[in-house]
Amino acid sequence: MATAAVSVATRRPTRQIHLGNVAVGGDAPVSVQSMTTTKTADVEATIQQIYALAGAGADIVRCTCNEREAAEGLARIVPRSPVPIVADIHFHVEMALAALDAGVHGLRLNPGNLRKPEEIRLVAAEARDRGVPIRIGVNAGSLHPELYERFGGATPEALCESARMELAYFDEVDFHDVKISVKASNVALMIEAYRLASETFDYPLHLGVTEAGPPPGGLVKATAGIATLLAEGIGDTIRYSLTADPVEEARAGRQLLEALGLRERKGLDLIACPSCGRAEIDVIRVAKEAQSALEERKIPLQIAVMGCVVNGPGEAREADLGIAAGRRRGHLFIKGKIVRVVPEDEMVSALVSEAEKIVAEGIDARLAAADSGAERAAEEDRRRLFDERGADANHAGERIDEIRRHLKGPGKHEGDADEGAGES
Ligand code: SF4
Repeated sequence: MATAAVSVATRRPTRQIHLGNVAVGGDAPVSVQSMTTTKTADVEATIQQIYALAGAGADIVRCTCNEREAAEGLARIVPRSPVPIVADIHFHVEMALAALDAGVHGLRLNPGNLRKPEEIRLVAAEARDRGVPIRIGVNAGSLHPELYERFGGATPEALCESARMELAYFDEVDFHDVKISVKASNVALMIEAYRLASETFDYPLHLGVTEAGPPPGGLVKATAGIATLLAEGIGDTIRYSLTADPVEEARAGRQLLEALGLRERKGLDLIACPSCGRAEIDVIRVAKEAQSALEERKIPLQIAVMGCVVNGPGEAREADLGIAAGRRRGHLFIKGKIVRVVPEDEMVSALVSEAEKIVAEGIDARLAAADSGAERAAEEDRRRLFDERGADANHAGERIDEIRRHLKGPGKHEGDADEGAGES
């Protein structure tokens, strides 16, 4: 059930390629990628991880093909995989050829590591004959030393030049089934490199901040880089490179695309207030309980957990469903309309049960089934809270008066001339 009608910038046009049944570039939805951490030769463990990644939102999965046993593993993995498989190749041309023989849906070549022109042309010609796309995976950390020297470091221009040189080899054998990445672990460099790549090439771009590190820092860095570019309309497929279970990468990628309105919501979008002095419940605990119960049931709704009834239902009125706490009771609301008032210890179970009913029956049917006295009961709670604590439970008005007194200095009072007038 989609809630986002607004999306970020119009995507910059790129050519379209196909990895198996997944289109990348052109008008295809931005796809999510991740990479297995198992030994590719361990077929069962790798298949298990691929299924976990696909379940978490990965559209395409990459596996390393670094040795003969890995290539043999790929031959057994590819037919059983629920998503297209890309083989990651660094130094050995034989591994690229073996991966193609294994039936992979895509290759990733690192131009900094596989450098001999005749080998690059050979792999491109083999990929061309089989209709298998190649990603030119430039990486600031493994840039060709010659380019490093020529450009005085891993600059955006150097990264794009590396991709351009690889493309020139591909051109020689008439191979154009390509996507490009120009990754760096430095977010600012990565953003500039992709902006330049977007102006230079019309091939689809695979976005990523390489070696972003463990969460939460890694998530912040990867999101800063990827989201900035997506918001500018740049990027056709993305990968979070986290030092974590790759399932987290896939989940983060999917959540980012859903948050930006670039993919339809498949999973839960839990919004919760940050809590404050008005909160009538432990918002963090209730939000966590609700998140785990709703995720377990794969509820595809935007659901709000709000700490008080004073601001909660209003601030979360766009959510499909929500609950706000007030006077030891929870006010359950659908699209901002109170439909039920439940005891505090039943808040999470009521929320989950209503979410399941919305998924089964639809929002309109559940709005029609609202308890007739719910709005009145909720209004009474709100009024009592105002009576007990006042509308300004955080004493913000008193604080502002105090600050004003402080700024005016000792001896100055309400009504004194405001010496700072006109300066703000
Ligand atoms: S919803 Fe209520 S408790 Fe939560 S941050 Fe807003 S005012 Fe505070």
